[in-house]
Amino acid sequence: MRRGTSVYVHFPFCARRCPYCDFATIARSPQEVPGSAYADAVLRELEGRHTELEGRHLASIFFGGGTPTLWDAEALGRVLAAIRAAFPTAEDELEITVECNPSSLDRAKARALADAGVNRLSIGVQSLSDERLRFLGRLHDARGAIRAIEAAREHVERVSVDFIFGLPGQDRAALLAELDALRPFSLEHLSLYALTIEEGTPFHELRKKGRLPVATDDEYATLFLAAEEALGALGYEHYEVSNYARPGRESRHNAHYWRGHAYLGLGAAAVGCLDEGVGRARRRKNVIEPDAYLRDPLAPPAESERLDAEDLLREALMLGLRTSRGVDLADVRERTGLDLLEARRAPIARRMELGDLVVEDGHLRVPRSRWLSLDAIVVDLF
Ligand code: SF4
Repeated sequence: MRRGTSVYVHFPFCARRCPYCDFATIARSPQEVPGSAYADAVLRELEGRHTELEGRHLASIFFGGGTPTLWDAEALGRVLAAIRAAFPTAEDELEITVECNPSSLDRAKARALADAGVNRLSIGVQSLSDERLRFLGRLHDARGAIRAIEAAREHVERVSVDFIFGLPGQDRAALLAELDALRPFSLEHLSLYALTIEEGTPFHELRKKGRLPVATDDEYATLFLAAEEALGALGYEHYEVSNYARPGRESRHNAHYWRGHAYLGLGAAAVGCLDEGVGRARRRKNVIEPDAYLRDPLAPPAESERLDAEDLLREALMLGLRTSRGVDLADVRERTGLDLLEARRAPIARRMELGDLVVEDGHLRVPRSRWLSLDAIVVDLF
């Protein structure tokens, strides 16, 4: 079996923390970001873990964060080249994505990233309304977002945009107007996330005090369906609950992840999960504090957990049922040694009778019309 493995590199610095974000990242001014030292640390980690990569096939690379566009392209390019060299084999058209913040993406940066070998940019636009961008505490305004998209489009063929919906004052018409403003760019990919209030964030504090107006479940549902209809009319396929793509332009890195396949996490707080034979894998989360990581990138992980066949089966359900293709039954059997239809026979039969699940072409999937009930369906199968 070819052991396709993706790589996620976490860049844990942002110019400013957004009040809704609970990602592992710290605020540093662009001048204070230790870009070269951080690249050296990631290279040391990669070198120290090279035996874990023996016999693996590189499936995709994703630089996320944080704000990887605060990393100078030369340093990022060094890491990228080392990752490619660390794997004995790789996909012919290797997808290499960098997450971008509009406030640190201009034409020069887009060109430098493309020169370094990056072929996909994912831009955290979040909104095209100045008022809503202010609410989200973002550093860019709508014009800045458009400029970043134009810069990306000019230098990189594959561009994706992240959007947040369910923001105060964002009714159906407002969301559709924002999505419509993206039309001239013929983007190949869009990620549309509902605003979630995470514990430990300033938004969570505001909400506890009753000072954060958030959309109700019904309002979220209305916006979710409105976006699906509008983007469908523009030729996008709703291929994962929060993701849309033009045919054939899905994110390969995310698709790999949603299939539950192996990935290596590099960098502070990076999470990875590598298979260790049929029905066995190990998930690890690197040391979280960037300064601690810079001191010793090979320090014992903050978390390390063995996964057995049942854990892997649950993971496959949780991730795979979010996609329009569903869970590949043969692939799950190959990776876990378990027959999913047997292992969950009663709840699957019950949900199939309700029309919440179908088995088709060797896949178990939730019909798109039931995606708003996805969480309850997945819980039922746990
Ligand atoms: S820029 Fe992104 S990663 Fe950084 S704080 Fe804001 S939402 Fe979080």
